[in-house]
Parts: sequence; structure tokens; C-alpha cells
Amino acid sequence: IKLDRSGKIYVAGHRGLVGSAITAALRRLGFSNLLLPPRSLLDLTDQSAVESFFAAEKPAYVILAAAKVGGIHANNTYPAEFIATNLQIQTNVIHSAYRNGVVKLLFLGSSCIYPKFAPQPIPESALLTGPLEPTNEWYAVAKIAGIKMCQAYRIQYNFDALSAMPTNLYGPNDNFHPDNSHVLPALMRRFHEAKTSGSKEVVVWGSGAPLREFLHVDDLADAVLFLMERYSGLGHVNVGSGKEVTIRELAELVKEVVGFEGNIVWDGSKPDGTPRKLMDSSLLAGLGWAPKVSLRDGLVDTYKWYLENNSKAP
Ligand code: GDP
Repeated sequence: IKLDRSGKIYVAGHRGLVGSAITAALRRLGFSNLLLPPRSLLDLTDQSAVESFFAAEKPAYVILAAAKVGGIHANNTYPAEFIATNLQIQTNVIHSAYRNGVVKLLFLGSSCIYPKFAPQPIPESALLTGPLEPTNEWYAVAKIAGIKMCQAYRIQYNFDALSAMPTNLYGPNDNFHPDNSHVLPALMRRFHEAKTSGSKEVVVWGSGAPLREFLHVDDLADAVLFLMERYSGLGHVNVGSGKEVTIRELAELVKEVVGFEGNIVWDGSKPDGTPRKLMDSSLLAGLGWAPKVSLRDGLVDTYKWYLENNSKAP
């Protein structure tokens, strides 16, 4: 399908890393019929509020990018919030979208849905084949339920709901919280603050050995719109860059982009998490999609945004 320009597009989570990039991409393509209710007016954990919103606005398309997200530390500290809030948001939105005649819905998850020791690169078929990484299983279980809910609604109601599972994302509007964010923004902030305060050392968690794949959020937004227009299927679709780096290489690259000249100190008391996490994105590549932003260019772009917007935030 081509997204029909007369139909309304609801981007749930439009202030977040993913939702803001998707909203910007839609605007660049000339879409103006976007539904972007502020959080203060629509609490997605409130089932009746979500149902009233869908009944009143009748969106044609829904991109579900609203979620409670965070890094390894946040997942360990707030397990109840991670499982409950995510289950509530996605259940409310998917169900009301179906009930109110939405033409197509795309649900966003994450690569942490896969078992800790999944084959690498991880194919879509690895879902539910083994135990999860314990540091983020609360979030992962909620996201797996979302994938299964999309499948169930497609099977029983013929609702065109599909799921995309991005690899580790980064870019403008990311969460740069010192403890609760993911590794890339956490390091960018820490190196920046060390540079500005003249400190000689930056502490990075773990051993530096884990491998991670990173995708710039503009590439994800492009993939999401590509899938909305060209793909329907019962299974979920991986979205990755296909390029992985060690946390040590990432730390060196962020240090260089930020321009910090001191030393990196490794804190082995912090958890490494899963040893390697590379997605097999060949299904999406086979449809004709490819990422465009290199990690270095993406880091430069993200640091520019950080300097303009976030370097004074708490
Ligand atoms: P994950 O990909 O789900 O494991 O989530 P993270 O982005 O939180 O962590 C990725 C890796 O980076 C793990 O091995 C962390 O131990 C490591 N890491 C190093 N320094 C940091 C940091 O300051 N914050 C976070 N979140 N992770 C860090």
C-alpha cells in the first residue's frame, strides 16, 4: 500500500527517540495529517482514554513507538514499571486501533526480545527459542507479547498489524541520563562532561568486550516507512545496520568525536549484559532496504544535537 495522504497518521511516542525521527521523516515527505497528542492529554496506560482518542480521531495508520525504555541499569532497577507500563501501552493501542478501523499498524520492539544465546547474527526465527538476557527480560517479555498480539489480531481479525525489531538505536532526542540511558548517549555525555570540567579520566562500565550493533534513528525511520508501504506479514522484521563494534571501540570513537583527551577506566563491577547482539536483517535487505548513516557520521550528528539541546539538561 501507499500511505494515503488523506488518512490520519498517529505516531504514538512522538517525543521519543524513535517517534520524533519518524515524525520528522513523515514531515520531510510532505505528510501534514499527523496526530501527535501530548502526553498530558493522552495517557496511553489509560485504556478508556486511548479508546476515546481512537473513536474521536479515527486514524488510518498507527506507528506505535511509545514505550518505557532504558539501559541495563534502568531495567534492573524498575522491573515492575518496565513490564507493566509496556504491556498496558501496547495492549491499549493495538486493541483500540483494531476496534476503530485502522488500516495498518506498525509496532516497534527491540533486539532484546531474542534469547541471550541466540545464533549470531540473530534471525527472526530465533524468537522464543531460549532464555532471555536477565538484565532486560521485563521489557523483552512485554515486547514479545506485543509481537504475539499483532500476530493474533492478524490471524483472528485480519488486522494488518506488523512488528519491526530495531537493533540498538541512537540519535537526536535520545535519553542522555547519566545512569538510566543506553551506552552510546551515556558515554557521549560522560566524555562531554569530562572534557568541559577538565577531568583526566572517564569511567566506562564492564569489560569493553561485548559487541553491539548500532543504527541511527533516521535509518530506522526510513525503514519503518518502507515497511508501512511495502510489507505485510505474520512475522516480525529485524532492522539493523549489519555493522558491530565492541564497547571498547565505541568508547574510543565517542571519545574522539567529543574531543576528550584523557583516559578511559573500565569498571569491571558493572554488568556486561549479553556478549554479542547482531541482528540478521537479510529479510529487510531482501525487500530492497539498506541503511545510509555510518556510525561515525551518526555520532557527529548526535553530538551536534546534544550540544545544541541537551548539554545543560539535568
Ligand atoms: P544492552 O545493549 O541492552 O546491554 O544495554 P546498554 O546500552 O545499557 O549496555 C550495552 C553495553 O555497554 C553493556 O556491556 C554495558 O555494560 C556497556 N556500558 C559501558 N558503559 C556504559 C554506560 O555508561 N551506560 C550503559 N548503559 N552501558 C554501558
